[in-house]
Amino acid sequence: MKLFNNLIAAILPYFPRFIIKPFAMPYVAGESLEKAVKRVLELNAAGYAVTMDILGEHVNTGEEAQAVTDAYCQLLETIHAEKVDGTISFKLTHVGLELGREMAEKNAMQITDKARELELGVTIDMENSPYTDATLDIFRQCFGRYKGVGTVLQAYFYRSPQDLAALAGLDLRVRICKGIYREAPEIAIQDRDEINGNFSRLIKSLANGAGYGEIATHDIGLIDELEIWLAENNIAKSEYEFQVLHGVPMGNRLEQLQAAGHKVRIYVPFGEAWFDYAVRRLKENPNMAGYILGNMFKR
Ligand SMILES: Cc1cc2nc3c(=O)[nH]c(=O)nc-3n(C[C@H](O)[C@H](O)[C@H](O)COP(=O)(O)OP(=O)(O)OC[C@H]3O[C@@H](n4cnc5c(N)ncnc54)[C@H](O)[C@@H]3O)c2cc1C
Repeated sequence: MKLFNNLIAAILPYFPRFIIKPFAMPYVAGESLEKAVKRVLELNAAGYAVTMDILGEHVNTGEEAQAVTDAYCQLLETIHAEKVDGTISFKLTHVGLELGREMAEKNAMQITDKARELELGVTIDMENSPYTDATLDIFRQCFGRYKGVGTVLQAYFYRSPQDLAALAGLDLRVRICKGIYREAPEIAIQDRDEINGNFSRLIKSLANGAGYGEIATHDIGLIDELEIWLAENNIAKSEYEFQVLHGVPMGNRLEQLQAAGHKVRIYVPFGEAWFDYAVRRLKENPNMAGYILGNMFKR
């Protein structure tokens, strides 16, 4: 079945949108801001904080990058006006990093200044390795302007512990995730257990004083292990949170985390550019091949 899943995963981007859409939709909160706001307010009512992401990356013109930047500022205004318990997450390529470092810096600053004005949190998502250094540099600049800006380190990179050490002492918020992109074995750990080990070490460094740790994973074993470690080491619940992506099945684990008093935040993407994001999520879903084929044959 795993082989079959891998085969389907490889050809998934070439499937027509109508086949993907029914399975994509649980991962996104809708195509419009209105739908997304409705969904995040429901999640807030159920006790979850959120971080909202406008889907898309890799823009082609300065005008597009500016439009995305303005849309994020508008999103911050909406979060503020609707009293959403939430932050935003954005990608630097979405605000023009491939078109030039200066453009991405200018746009990231505009978003940072709006977030500072409204006292809302911002996370700069981490993309693939060509952008790691630029992302960390721009993050530092934004953080220098407003302490409410955080970023992400990927546990699959050998370099991440050094990157964290270089940021330590800044009293920052760092999301730790395994990493979604395909990266070369020279720079990225390929073994799942080793990635998990690096993940735990990064979270433990944060908990031991490097900053506020955001534990972003659906890996129940890893969540269990870290929950026990955090309790055994008397780490205050105000020093970390758990994060998951919208729509990824978690059984009742999130309710258990909430019942134990942990903060849980859901990453909520929305927007018209749902196809690439949904394909990425579907590739991670172990039941994906069965779902997709089932749907194809139903039609
Ligand atoms: C809040 C949040 C923010 C993130 N931000 C970034 C970022 O900025 N940069 C980046 O590179 N990556 C980011 N990621 C993605 C992350 O790097 C992983 O690719 C993704 O979370 C899958 O890894 P995992 O930790 O869940 O572990 P895995 O070992 O991949 O999965 C654990 C279990 O979860 C289940 N599962 C995982 N994904 C799915 C799915 N889509 N559908 C159904 N079941 C699934 C599977 O059953 C699997 O056994 C983020 C993830 C989260 C939760």
